[in-house]
Amino acid sequence: MADRIVLRGGYVITMDPELGDVPGGDVLIEGDRIAQVAPKIETDAEVIDVSGDVVIPGFVDTHRHTWEAAIRGCAPDATLDDYFVEVLDTFAPLYRPDDVYASNLAGALECINAGITTLVDWSHINNTPEHPDAAIRGLQEAGIRAVYAYGSANLSLSDYWFESKIAIPRQDVERVKKTYFSSEDQLLTLALATRGPGFCVDDVVREEWRMARELGIPITVHVGMGRLAGRWNMVKLLDNLGLLGSDTTYIHCCYFSDEEWRLVADSGGTVSIAPQVEMQMGHGWPPVAKAIEFGLRPSLSIDVVTTVPGDMFTQMRCSFAGERYRVNAAAWESNTPVPDTILTARDMLRIATINGAHVAGLEQRTGSLTPGKQADVVVIDGTGVATAPVIDPVATVVLCADTSNVDTVIIGGKVHKRDGKLLADWESARRRVEASRDYLLQAREAKRRQRTP
Ligand SMILES: [Zn+2]
Repeated sequence: MADRIVLRGGYVITMDPELGDVPGGDVLIEGDRIAQVAPKIETDAEVIDVSGDVVIPGFVDTHRHTWEAAIRGCAPDATLDDYFVEVLDTFAPLYRPDDVYASNLAGALECINAGITTLVDWSHINNTPEHPDAAIRGLQEAGIRAVYAYGSANLSLSDYWFESKIAIPRQDVERVKKTYFSSEDQLLTLALATRGPGFCVDDVVREEWRMARELGIPITVHVGMGRLAGRWNMVKLLDNLGLLGSDTTYIHCCYFSDEEWRLVADSGGTVSIAPQVEMQMGHGWPPVAKAIEFGLRPSLSIDVVTTVPGDMFTQMRCSFAGERYRVNAAAWESNTPVPDTILTARDMLRIATINGAHVAGLEQRTGSLTPGKQADVVVIDGTGVATAPVIDPVATVVLCADTSNVDTVIIGGKVHKRDGKLLADWESARRRVEASRDYLLQAREAKRRQRTP
């Protein structure tokens, strides 16, 4: 008999259009799956009492460079241009496989602690073949559901960005696929983290897109952001190369023309928006409402913890406030009422959960509390100092709670956080990522001294 857990008596927001919300409801988990969601389930399963709490599907972060956990907060004032120099050209070449492992373990635990149960790990730190092994080991040990997106090395800006002539090594992607991704039925799946036109010469772009398609893995690419790539019309360029497809996630999309939005929507592509990074670092406007206008189902992502917080509450609120500011400002200008298409708190929760699963290509498996799906479940404490008293449970999650209110986290039926505490050995993960930070800071200093004798 599979392990059985029942979450008893919470306000259940399923994000399943058929099931809706179940106030004072029970969620029965059998093995790795959700078995039933109903007002009262008779069962002898192990009980977790969640009365007064809010039960939601786990958040889905559709793009994060998890390898940067060891250099958390190193670039608070960076623009995107600064980031290329301070992070990609300075720290990335110094990374040893151990630094990637320490970061991915700590970064994935950070996700779980914050109620993010699915992560797209955009891993452009594959400086040697040992680097992807280390990244995958970190994700595996944390126990998170993740799409491991295999990216390029980052040994210098001139070799790997801006007209790069070096493609992701197909042989190693094939090795990684064979070694770690032979089964479909596991927490980790594989994608290709490509750089795209402008960042690579066309031959490399063609080669990487062909590689992903021949290997049958999805593509994820940064497009249309910042002072440089924001002007390149990358989606148009991809279209000219005949490469658009429904297997591709487009990240940021801040400076898309309407034509580019239509090309993405018509080709069945998906969208990942990182609002805090985009607003703060100069990528451009986080186009959540724009994506919806074109019939897309946008998702949210964290991107870089070098510069922004690693939780989904920040992203939901940044985008919610930003979009509502924009719509309200337009209504003020035209002196007309605010249209009822303005984003709601429930829209934000949908975007952070089920839309994320859609974008990660995992909607059949996760993103809603639908019986038969994997049991990726988060309990938000409704009795906390910031969350009590609960009136509107969606508001509790989207507007009141923060990571400290994430009480319980379950991934594929396995409990990873309980009573507000991670069950993993965080102390050892922390010591490891701190040692990695020490090494990386020292190595950066040594490099600086070498440059300025
Ligand atoms: Zn990114």
